[in-house]
Amino acid sequence: MIPYGRQDISQADIDAVVETLCSDWLTQGPAVPAFEKCVADYCAAQHAIAVNSATSALHIACLALGVSKGDIVWTSPITFVASANCVLYCGAEVDFVDIDPRTYNMSVECLAEKLAQAEIVGKLPKVIIPVHLCGQPCEMFAIYTLSQRYGFKIIEDASHAIGGKYREEFIGNCRYSDVTIFSFHPVKIITTGEGGMALTNDAQVAKQMRLLRSHGITTDVVDMFPRPAEEIWNYQQIGLGFNYRITDIQAALGLSQMQRLNEFVSKRHSIAQHYNELLSNLPIVIPWQHPDSYSSFHLYLIRLQLDKINKTHRQVYEALRTEGILVNLHYIPVYLQPYYEKMGFKRGYCSEAEKYYSEAISIPMYPGLTEQQQDDVIAALNLIITRF
Ligand SMILES: *Cc1c(COP(=O)(O)O)cnc(C)c1O
Repeated sequence: MIPYGRQDISQADIDAVVETLCSDWLTQGPAVPAFEKCVADYCAAQHAIAVNSATSALHIACLALGVSKGDIVWTSPITFVASANCVLYCGAEVDFVDIDPRTYNMSVECLAEKLAQAEIVGKLPKVIIPVHLCGQPCEMFAIYTLSQRYGFKIIEDASHAIGGKYREEFIGNCRYSDVTIFSFHPVKIITTGEGGMALTNDAQVAKQMRLLRSHGITTDVVDMFPRPAEEIWNYQQIGLGFNYRITDIQAALGLSQMQRLNEFVSKRHSIAQHYNELLSNLPIVIPWQHPDSYSSFHLYLIRLQLDKINKTHRQVYEALRTEGILVNLHYIPVYLQPYYEKMGFKRGYCSEAEKYYSEAISIPMYPGLTEQQQDDVIAALNLIITRF
């Protein structure tokens, strides 16, 4: 069986976790800030807040940017549901911008058009959440330029994208955004089991996210409210937060995985290169790369040219799975999910996203995938789409 993605755990990773298990701190110890500093330095961001998932990171990022009831936030329909759910957690409204037909990321043209219309009716978004699908960055400079004109904030959902670059700089530096989010789920580029991180260059936003991560509690006297001097106030709850903390066990794993991040991403690039060659003569659209981008290649997405294949999308998908090749689909347009449909979204809302959805398949992509396995995947695909 070949999964579409999986973790790569070394003996050094195991040793790092065991060492933490034997230490004084399983949580709230030194491994968490060490992991945060490592990722912040790697990305050249000023602040990093590690949490128990990217979903939590998205939630506290929205809250720290002031998203609340009455606000509107836009994201891409081709993403995991968490990119949209975080908006609903804040009591705000979510809407979707159609995708670019080549990168499958949020289309800058559609965004510009939708903003112009939203301005006319007075319903501009407070925040926009571009998603770097597969690890290929969105056109951040163009989105940032629009944010200057229309006054919205930006959260990059870079769950797929740690180790990738935009215009020669690592994703996560927040040059063109307020906050960037990473996920450390096992299928992503590096893992902590479950885990996520929010990066920002804004000290105020960082402080807010830190509070929200841990119940809204501060132990910093400068943030505390005045109380009688004879009373003990070793901490104060000054807002309403959550328990979104990551453990030291996880952070130790993350810190160890960071040592191999560049290696992971270059391995993913050679896998992509080999797929590109193997697929060149098949009725398949291979992942197009924007010249500004160096993708982390979390996923390798193919699109079936169904007019040249006498099988349906679903038949190809299921035949591959029957062969033990556990392909996947990233993603069903979020607004077609029954929960979102109940909110009033209708089929046909984002035509490019729906066209993509009818043709896309994610084939196996992870550092441990061998050339032989890649050859087997493509041989199976070839047989399925050419066999009558
Ligand atoms: C995986 C993922 C998330 C959620 O990450 P978790 O760490 O599992 O919460 C959010 N957005 C995107 C685009 C993802 O792929």
